[in-house]
Amino acid sequence: MIKTFAARSSTALSRRRLFQSGAVLAGAALGSRVPGAAARDCPPPPRGLDALARDLRKLGSRLILPGEPGFLVAAWPNNGRWADVLPRAIAMCTSDEAVCRCIDWTRQEHQPFAVRCGGHNYAGFSTTCGLLIDVKPMSGITFDPKTGLVTIGAGANNQDMADAFRATGLAVPSGRCPTVGISGLVLGGGWGFSATRNGLTCDALRATDAVTADGTLHRGITGSGADEPLFWAARGGGGGNFAVHTSFTFEPHEVGNVTVFNIIWPAEHQVELMLDLQEIQLKNPALISTRSKLAPLAAGKVTRGELRVQTLGQFFGPPDQLKGLLERPLRRATPVVAEINAMNYWSARDYLVTDDPEGLYDIRSSYVAGQLGGDAINRMIDWMEKWPGGSLRQDNMGILFAAGGQVKKVGPTDTAYFHRECDFILEMEASWSPLDTPDTVTRQLAWLTEYFQDMRRFVTPQSYVNFPSRDLPNWLNAYYGGNVGTLCEVKRRYDPDNVFNFPQSIPLTPPT
Ligand SMILES: Cc1cc2nc3c(=O)[nH]c(=O)nc-3n(C[C@H](O)[C@H](O)[C@H](O)COP(=O)(O)OP(=O)(O)OC[C@H]3O[C@@H](n4cnc5c(N)ncnc54)[C@H](O)[C@@H]3O)c2cc1C
Repeated sequence: MIKTFAARSSTALSRRRLFQSGAVLAGAALGSRVPGAAARDCPPPPRGLDALARDLRKLGSRLILPGEPGFLVAAWPNNGRWADVLPRAIAMCTSDEAVCRCIDWTRQEHQPFAVRCGGHNYAGFSTTCGLLIDVKPMSGITFDPKTGLVTIGAGANNQDMADAFRATGLAVPSGRCPTVGISGLVLGGGWGFSATRNGLTCDALRATDAVTADGTLHRGITGSGADEPLFWAARGGGGGNFAVHTSFTFEPHEVGNVTVFNIIWPAEHQVELMLDLQEIQLKNPALISTRSKLAPLAAGKVTRGELRVQTLGQFFGPPDQLKGLLERPLRRATPVVAEINAMNYWSARDYLVTDDPEGLYDIRSSYVAGQLGGDAINRMIDWMEKWPGGSLRQDNMGILFAAGGQVKKVGPTDTAYFHRECDFILEMEASWSPLDTPDTVTRQLAWLTEYFQDMRRFVTPQSYVNFPSRDLPNWLNAYYGGNVGTLCEVKRRYDPDNVFNFPQSIPLTPPT
């Protein structure tokens, strides 16, 4: 028997997000004067939009045209930097058949397209001037007690999953932001506060359905059988490269009580604290999962004396055991915030959620094998002190996400997620608001580029494809390392005409 969970609509907007939507539209008004927000070249308008609209209507789906109700909301990406890239039409797909029809149509009409689930791609790769194929309406979640597997529609997001799983004692490893879509998350890997204990989201994937470039629906793609290459690529090969996935089947794991923590130290002993926290994480990957960072107290000029260390995370044991583990950093200085509380897994998840980053931003990511030494952390602080300023407090200037432990139990070429020998993702970000002038934004982006470049000597030459940037040098090798050749083979097999195409899509052949 198949039990169907109720899946919450993914479009609920928080008050903050409503405010941000105003900010985003204002940001869009800055248009291509904001560096990076360039309009794309698009072929002439297609003739067959009416036929597509009619066919989608018959299938219970909807084609939204510019000016129609809902168009701007449906077109709006999480990163408002790309909000001026407006599609010709948005296909809100409710079924596999609707997706097949859209892919057929784009081929017949020679139209560019992009696939969207949660719309959170940092670099705007789910925006297009052609057809936006949105799978959000396909958000059903069903659990099969016979197999113990859960099938999640490709349009569901982290909040839908939390709502569906909350009463079950089960979970699939997932990310922090409620509105991040399952499609982008799993296809790029999927980091969360269970990663070091239970693996990445993609490690729990057992099967997927997908519509390939020839308009064919491939059902039940698994690790064996004809479509094994597509299954391999679906675990870390990045979204939008080979097919439109319409559902994902996962093997959930059991969850119970955990201890969550949010500890912020006064702005001193930053290097020692960051070293302590990394060491604790490296020694106890199955017990603790951390996101540790240095963050300034206010917007404007950043000084070392105002940079605080914060660690946030989940501990798989009782609070006293955690306090014992954190004894050394807790002794270094009395924290200004020390929230350490036992709760069930899903309350913990509610505590740990974030919708940050949102608005207007760019980021860089790299991977750390082992730990960042004191010289690297001092260098990070030097760069934070060089922040050129702007209207927003920079909360994400240097973050370490724990990404070792269970993640390392899978080999780098066993799935398309290559970074199996690493222990942390290092992320750095610049974010701005419509108040900031294009000159300010240009200075911030230059700071990000130089900071990232300077930190490269301390990290591996790898980047997380789910934390992408259009300005990342050598992006193909950074995202996929030793898997580039195999990914190109998968591309040639499933998308020989390269119709799944965007500025950082997998090419047909590796560059020489
Ligand atoms: C606020 C915030 C918090 C985040 N937190 C985390 C986190 O905790 N852990 C983590 O790992 N990542 C996190 N991320 C990054 C996130 O995982 C990626 O941005 C992810 O790719 C977003 O997926 P999406 O479906 O929301 O985005 P989209 O922009 O819709 O999709 C991402 C990519 O996948 C493609 N795609 C979308 N749907 C499909 C489909 N059905 N078939 C094929 N391709 C598809 C798109 O074309 C695009 O290239 C966060 C991002 C934000 C903005």
